[in-house]
Amino acid sequence: MIEVRNLNQTFQTAKGPLQVLTDVNLEIAQGDFVAVIGRSGAGKSTFLRTLNGLLIPTSGSVIVNGTDITKLSKRELQKYRRTVGFIFQQFNLVNRLSALDNVLHGRLGYLPTWRGLLGLYSEADYQIARQQLERVDLAAKENARVDSLSGGQQQRVAIARAMAQQPTLMLADEPAANLDPVLSEEVMRTLKRFNEQDGVTVVINIHALDLALKYAKRIVAFKRGRLVFDGSPAQLTESIVDDLYERKEMLA
Ligand code: ATP
Ligand code: MG
Repeated sequence: MIEVRNLNQTFQTAKGPLQVLTDVNLEIAQGDFVAVIGRSGAGKSTFLRTLNGLLIPTSGSVIVNGTDITKLSKRELQKYRRTVGFIFQQFNLVNRLSALDNVLHGRLGYLPTWRGLLGLYSEADYQIARQQLERVDLAAKENARVDSLSGGQQQRVAIARAMAQQPTLMLADEPAANLDPVLSEEVMRTLKRFNEQDGVTVVINIHALDLALKYAKRIVAFKRGRLVFDGSPAQLTESIVDDLYERKEMLA
């Protein structure tokens, strides 16, 4: 369970302070699948970064299972972040390594640092990594260098790596933005499967509204840093979408 309370984020820029998130309040139950939508610059990535403690908000709290992660020590925060998988638009894999080695990186947080640096994984680590690769249908590619894989396959390796962390929360920032429509669906289906089978909470930033409506259980919309909609896909009406993307204003 995640509770976001009175969240504000202001960045200091050359032009002065820039308020990016304004008084955001919401709760996300374990096992939910939330799509975060809104125009470019609305604050979606900033919001996602606060959920895994990559960014400490200017004010407000992010309470995860009773603990306010904005108040954690560096060490405690590291421990928390091990329970959170993060998937990026650019995959962020290590190109010269194999698919399996990349997925094993999901286990690094569990190893004492020196063993991690030497890549001394346990049998259990290998087992978990292979299992996740299999679940994204890439068992046959375990020894392939990731830069020899297609974009969709690379993103599936990234999802397997995140799942190898055995996370309770999976955050994805535009994971399908670089992929064609077919591969985008594949990524969404993979996330949905993990959400359903493992009960992992998924929060995903996504521009493709059709995919958000099709796969998410819940839609959350940001407009200029404010949460302006929170409801089921069925509740997201055409006029809300028009307002969100300021379509009328753009045409006027
Ligand atoms: P997109 O859909 O294009 O990814 P977004 O909704 O994810 O957009 P954010 O990346 O959260 O938007 O950015 C929101 C605003 O905050 C933008 O105006 C951005 O320039 C600004 N911003 C984000 N990070 C910083 C930072 N570290 N310092 C200053 N400004 C920032
Ligand atoms: Mg973004």
